[in-house]
Amino acid sequence: MAYRSGRHFLQIPGPTNVPDRVLRAMDHPTIDHRGPQFRTLASGLFADLPTIFGTEQPVVVYPSSGTGAWEAALVNTLSPGDRVLMYETGHFAALWSNMARRLGLDVEVLDGDWRSGVDPARVEQHLADDDEHAVRAVAVVHNETSTGVTTDVAEVRRAIDRAGHPALLLVDTISSLASIDYRHDQWGVDVTVGGSQKGLMLPPGLGFNAVSQRARAAASKARLPRSYWDWQDMLDANANGVFPFTPATNLLYGLREAIDMLLEEGLDQVFARHQRHAAATRAAVDAWGLETQCRVPSEHSGTLTGVQVGEAHDADAVRAVALERFDLSLGAGLGRLAGKMFRIGHLGDLGDLTLLGAIGGVEMSLEQAGVTPSASGLTAASKHLASNQS
Ligand SMILES: *Cc1c(COP(=O)(O)O)cnc(C)c1O
Repeated sequence: MAYRSGRHFLQIPGPTNVPDRVLRAMDHPTIDHRGPQFRTLASGLFADLPTIFGTEQPVVVYPSSGTGAWEAALVNTLSPGDRVLMYETGHFAALWSNMARRLGLDVEVLDGDWRSGVDPARVEQHLADDDEHAVRAVAVVHNETSTGVTTDVAEVRRAIDRAGHPALLLVDTISSLASIDYRHDQWGVDVTVGGSQKGLMLPPGLGFNAVSQRARAAASKARLPRSYWDWQDMLDANANGVFPFTPATNLLYGLREAIDMLLEEGLDQVFARHQRHAAATRAAVDAWGLETQCRVPSEHSGTLTGVQVGEAHDADAVRAVALERFDLSLGAGLGRLAGKMFRIGHLGDLGDLTLLGAIGGVEMSLEQAGVTPSASGLTAASKHLASNQS
């Protein structure tokens, strides 16, 4: 491949750009993971990581992708044949429910239209009808990365409570953590699942479970087979500043730096920045005369925007032009949305001009792929950013 000058634009909704500060922080020798230097690092992380999840409860850290952390959430809290209520907001919710089935759980899925989030009223109704409390857990995706739709998790918890139902609440925040407002404790979430390579601005390779007291109590009785994923082994070792097996030491150096960066900027400012960039991106989509995959204005994702190209066009052709001509990676339509839409990731380490560069690249790619924009999205987005200061 010919050399391409300048920086590649990685505008998929994860993995995201890894900031230079994080790259430099990881560029150090791997140390003894049972020695004093490591214990200092780990203890600091165990103290500060919960802030990112909005919790005072412990956060378990695995050397895994987000999918591993999904599995950990299920196998630690549930027993073979337990009923789990899931909601198909999109491709990721569907993958998680498939996993639950493969683990031997009895999965009930409420269908969605892949254009909106979880409808809490349907969850409430379903649980109200479950007189015998057979449903042991409700599992939802906070930010559905395949569509660009966010679910109101606090409202899902209220729906469970209104139904007077004891089910645990498990939430996937893999593409919203550290970029969209999230409160594990305040919203009454039992297990929050996270990953390193999206809002946390790290390379792939770390998975997280924030764990409530109720979830830990459930874990003491849960009988799904587990070994590597067992929270208790982790929490016991973590109490001494170590891990039960070799941790991803260099990723933990990066995690230290990423948390410092997020706390320096301030989490509220990080959330506001993402909302502002998302609104600017939607202004561009609107100007192009295209529709967002999300059809509910209050549910637009702060971290990515799904853009429909219309029946007559192929979204993958737009993506191919973006990559070949402009060195810009966009997210593909997943599952049943393949070819129908593409996704612009605007999460992680991003400034206004990076966003405008990406939107300019999308605009040129639409033009060249024959999806002629009706007006300039780049102009619309830049006006939005200029008139809405951070
Ligand atoms: C990326 C993502 C996953 C999968 O994470 P991996 O790290 O690829 O295993 C799961 N759920 C959501 C919402 C995601 O965005």
